[in-house]
Order: sequence, then structure tokens, then C-alpha cells
Amino acid sequence: MIKHLKLHLTGAVQGVGFRPFVYNLAKRLDLKGYVINDTHGVIIEIQGEEKNINQFLIALQTEKPPLAHIFSQEIEELPITEFQDFEIKKSKVVGKKEVFILPDISTCDECIKELTDPKNRRYRYPFINCTNCGPRFTIIEKLPYDRPNTTMKKFKMCPDCQKEYKNPKDRRFHAQPNACPVCGPHISLYTSDKKLLTEKEEALQKTIELLKKDKILAVKGIGGFHLVCDATSDKAINTLRERKKRGEKPFAVMFKNINQIKKYANITDFEEAVILSPERPIVIVKKKPNTDLSKGVAPHLDRIGVFLPYSPLHYLLLNGYGKPLVMTSANLSDEPMVKDNEEAFKNLSIFTDYILTHNRDIKIRADDSVIQIIDKKISFVRRSRGYAPLPIKLPFKLNKRVLAVGGHQKNSIAIAFEDKAFLSQHIGDLETLNACNNFEEVIYSFLELYEFEPEIVVSDLHPRYYSTKWAKTFSKEKSIPLVQLQHHYTHALSLMAENQIKKEKVFSVCWDGTGYGTDGNLWGGEFLLADYKDFERAFYFDYFHLLGGEKAVKEPRRVALSILFDIFGQDIPDVPTKEAFEKSQIELLYKAYKKGLNAPLSSSVGRLFDGVASILGLRQFLSYEGQSGMIIEGLYDWTVKEYYPFKIKNKVIIWQPIFIALLEDKSDIKTKISKFINTLAQIVISAYKQKTNGEKLGLSGGVFQNRVLTEKVIQLAEKEKIQVLVHKKVPPNDGGLSLGQVIYSLSNS
Ligand code: ZN
Ligand code: ZN
Ligand code: FE
Repeated sequence: MIKHLKLHLTGAVQGVGFRPFVYNLAKRLDLKGYVINDTHGVIIEIQGEEKNINQFLIALQTEKPPLAHIFSQEIEELPITEFQDFEIKKSKVVGKKEVFILPDISTCDECIKELTDPKNRRYRYPFINCTNCGPRFTIIEKLPYDRPNTTMKKFKMCPDCQKEYKNPKDRRFHAQPNACPVCGPHISLYTSDKKLLTEKEEALQKTIELLKKDKILAVKGIGGFHLVCDATSDKAINTLRERKKRGEKPFAVMFKNINQIKKYANITDFEEAVILSPERPIVIVKKKPNTDLSKGVAPHLDRIGVFLPYSPLHYLLLNGYGKPLVMTSANLSDEPMVKDNEEAFKNLSIFTDYILTHNRDIKIRADDSVIQIIDKKISFVRRSRGYAPLPIKLPFKLNKRVLAVGGHQKNSIAIAFEDKAFLSQHIGDLETLNACNNFEEVIYSFLELYEFEPEIVVSDLHPRYYSTKWAKTFSKEKSIPLVQLQHHYTHALSLMAENQIKKEKVFSVCWDGTGYGTDGNLWGGEFLLADYKDFERAFYFDYFHLLGGEKAVKEPRRVALSILFDIFGQDIPDVPTKEAFEKSQIELLYKAYKKGLNAPLSSSVGRLFDGVASILGLRQFLSYEGQSGMIIEGLYDWTVKEYYPFKIKNKVIIWQPIFIALLEDKSDIKTKISKFINTLAQIVISAYKQKTNGEKLGLSGGVFQNRVLTEKVIQLAEKEKIQVLVHKKVPPNDGGLSLGQVIYSLSNS
């Protein structure tokens, strides 16, 4: 019997070789009709024998291209009609765009095979790609995803490329960035003062030579420029740190293959799989001791961020050079990553000796993603290239269109409609003018790409966040309501949303650096019993003073001093904290402490980590945010089971006994640190048991990027049969706030 069906698929179905797949499948099953991209996804009409049609429907799910994600499928049966053949029709643009934009995907194995085959016409061509791999999000100017709407539009395909592009049986059928050495982009090597040295293969060879001489180069990648140098050269890395004014913040290292990574790091099978995944994130893994990797790559840390080449240019560079390379975002600190050629010549000459660039423009900036494995699951430190802007599925569907502007640090924004939240790539800290401009640029690129008109805008409660101020203005300009959400409640909401919580309350432990509290104090050690409507601040860490306000965030010694004043008054014991100050400074700060001058109150657990780091003499000043936590994590000993005493009085976690016991403890530093972390884990369980009645236990906020703390809490919770929720799709840090903002306004509209 002959049947005629019309299918409407939504999801990530464009730019992934979906139409050619459908075409070949229809041909194989002798079906007639057509396939076409529209703004909502893909429409297919098929007509033919019923049994073939059924096979088609099965194969659509089981044989679809690796990068395709079908989110929904509608089928309607139509009367029999006349089709000559099966064809791929040209895209049409009607109505609102709701298609998924795919992230950039690393070079596939088949392309690597061609890249390294001397007989292939793309032998050593740094822009080889196909429908299964290559740039996507970073080259899109508008939808639908077709070549004229990308930065590839200026390259006219040569007859050979054109043939592939038009041949449904070819791997490059409708591969929008398709290119070859004859017709496509190419690389050029410049001095940092913009003198062209050489091009193409010779530029690559010259780059390798320069790296061998400990030079620092800026290399244009997929989502922006990297600063690149030999990861085994102390000289190169010291120079890079000096020029970049980057104290001790670790650099990511790219390796030529997984075996090389194994020479430098101890990795688990799961970590290996994540490193090899097509998204190619930076994965933070355990460093091996005594390799030739420069100590300057990740000072004082036992871990290191590793990744593999994800563009053909990386592949050629790493294999040509042989040794691992530092690859760090090319930017001034707190500024966005440089992405345009002119911008590179203007801003990168202070860092680099040479610039290896190319003439395919990057439309949308995207930093590398960073992942660590916690409790055998993916935990994002930064969700960006390879993942953004794929949507996060929300637990329910609502009718309002939301724009969420995120927080202040590690900012990401989101737009959401129906049951999907589209989180942006990592935008970063909104500390500089350029960072704030980039924040606006990303918002407008999302609004334009998705032709999105928000009906509500959501921000943090903090009055001084740039994102909050921006949202206020935007809400006025567009005459749409603004919702301002408490920071830690937003962390809890984000966790609930990605874990598909529908209505129930979750006991969420939200610990981080600082966030603005409803009482005007700086929260950061919160236990919230929350649902989508509201939250109760069930417990919090006893307030302490941040001596010097903002300064205390960068100087653990100030937090420790405040803690010591609290316990001992002015007469503090002889600990490393004391030595970190002049005597007169201590007297002055004591007065400020007494009067509460420039000493805001905080309940931040992140700061308590700093306090411990100072008292134990590990760190008096921070070189980067989260440093003390990372050092402490590296010293944790799983064989230590003891913990320090603590008190929970009414709603307050009394921390003084913890520090008194820590100061009296005669054991070694590793034991003390382990006991401190164990204490925090015990506090979570103890608070949970006091307040709850079988609710789930949630862990959110930047502090839960601490692997050992999170794993310890999970271990204790499992013993008590408590169900724990952690972040797996968005970062636990402020990069995940925009998701929490979205879900609140959706569930309360
Ligand atoms: Zn490929
Ligand atoms: Zn060509
Ligand atoms: Fe936070």
C-alpha cells in the first residue's frame, strides 16, 4: 500500500548533514518527496510503500548523523500526490526562527585522514571540514544556517568543492564551511607590528621554528585568538606571565594526542572519554610529577587543564611541533578574548612576537570550555565552545519569552521560550568597559539570531552589578517588567531547573564567594529550602567582617585576621596571618573591625577557605579567584575521617569552634585541611537532617567546584540515603545563574 507522510522535526537538525542523510535514506528505500530546512527545523514529505515508510521512520532515529539531536517530531498523513523523485529543496524563511544553532565541533577522524594523506587535495589544508565537523556557531551571521549567512560567504567555492557540496552522496554535501586550498581561507604569519612574513605551509613551518626559539605567538583559532608557547619552556612561560601580568593562574595545555596526555597526567577512562569527545573541552586532570612540563604552567597545583587539537590548524601545529603547547585565551585580564585580525594587531602586540592568523572571520567569540570530573560526572567550570548555544531542557513549558542577564563574575546570559533555555557562551567578569561591551554584544547577537523579543528581563539583586544596571535600563526602554532575584536563591533555582525538578522543595546548600543578600549583607554560606515560588533561608554561616571590603576578597590574610579578632580580640596568637601584617596595620584594622568601618558583613564559605589558607600559611594574597580552594583541594587526604567541632544555633552555623580546634590541632597541614573539609561536609548533613523531611539535597555555588568537598558530601549523603542534586549541564559557579533566572520568571508568570 502507498502512503504519503509529512514530518516536521525540530532540534539540532541543520548543519549536521541531516538533509543528505534523509535524501540517501529515501533513495535507498525508494521513497519520493522532498526534504527542506525551515526556520523551525526540518520538513520532510515522503511517499511510497508503507513498509518502506515504516523503515524510514525507524532509521530516522537509529541512523541519524552523530551530531543531530531530534527534540520533537510531528507526523501527519496526507492524500497521495504526484512526486517525480526525492529532492532536497532550497530553504525558505518564514515566521519566527526556532532552529537550533549548533556549536563548533572538532575535526572528525575522516577529515584528519584526508589532512594527512599526501594524495588528497586537502593534504595539510588548515581549514578542512565536512558536515560532521568544523565551525558552526562562531561563523553564523544569521539564520537559517546556509553559506551566504556565514563568514564563509566571501569565499566562492571552486568547481571541485561545488561538486562535493551539491552531491548528496558526498560527505561535504551542503557542508556550509566547505573549502579547499584553491578556493578557501588560508593562514598568514605576521610580525606583531603587522609585517607579513609568509603564508600557507611556509607560515606553519616558520611558526614551528619560532616556537622552538621560545617565542610567544598569537594564533587565531575557532572562537578567538590564543597565546601559544612551548609548555616545557620555563623561559617562554615566564615571559608570557610577565607580559600578560598573570601571576599564578594556571594555563591550559594542548597535546598532540591522548597518549601524549597520558605521559603528563594520570587520567581515568571517563576523563579520557571527555577529553576525546567532539566538543574537545579543556579537562582538569591530575598532573604527573617529574615530567618536563614547566612548573610555571600551574604553580602550586597538583592538577592541570589539558585538551586536544580541535581545528585542523591545531592538529598541524601540535603534530609539527611535537611537544605540548600552552594555549591560553589572548586577552588582557578581565577583557574578552581577541577575535578579529585588526583587533589582534592593535591589542596583542604587547604580548606576542608574531601573529599567525587567517582570513576566515570569527563572527561570534567563544572561549574554550573547561570541565572537571566530580563524582564520576561532568562538572562545568566554564560552559562555552562546543556546548553553547545548545539549549538546556526546562522541566516545564510556559508562554513567556525571557531574557536573563546573569551575574557579575563568569557572566553568561540566556534567552528562553517554551521548554528551552539557550545559555550563551562564557562572557566573563564584567569588570572592564570592553567586557561590558561584549556582554551587550552577546545579548544583541542572541536577540537578533533568534529574532527574540523578550517579554520580561531578569537580573541579580545586586544594585551595583553592571548586568543589573543594564537590565534596569533595558526594561525601561522596552517597557517590560524587570525581576531582580537573590543570588543564592538563583543558584538553587538553576540546580533545580537542570535536574528537572517540577514543584517539590529542595534543600539547597549554596556556597560561594559572595552574593548580595536580602538584608544587604554579603551572603555566601547559605542553606535554602526552596521551590520555584520562594525560599526560606534555613541556615547560614555566622557573619564575619571582610576587613577592607573588596580588598578582603583578594587577601586571605584579611579574612583570617577578622576571624582571629572575633575569637581572641586584639591579642591574636602567633600564626602566619600575623606575620603577614605590620604591627601597626593590625592595630589599625582592629579599630576598623571594632567600629565596622569598611568591613561589610559576610557569611561566605569561599572566604572561610581563604581564612584557613592564611592561618595555615598557604596563601596570604590571591593571584586569582578561587586559588586557596584549589590549593587546599590538592592537599586533601581521603584517609582522614575526623572533623572539627561545630555548633548550629537556631539558624546560624557557629564557626568559631572550628577555628579554635584548628589552631589547637598539632597534626600536619594535610590532616588539618582534611579535617576542615570533613567538617564542612558534616555541617551540610547535620543542617539537612535538622530541617528536612525527605527532600532532596542540592549543592550549588562556586564552592562546590571544590571536587573533594563535593565528593565528601555525596559520600556522607549516600550513607544516610539522602538523594543529592549536583550541576551537570551548567556550572555550579555564577556561569549558571542565567538558567536560574530564566526558570524563576517562567514558573512565576
Ligand atoms: Zn569532518
Ligand atoms: Zn575548493
Ligand atoms: Fe555565586
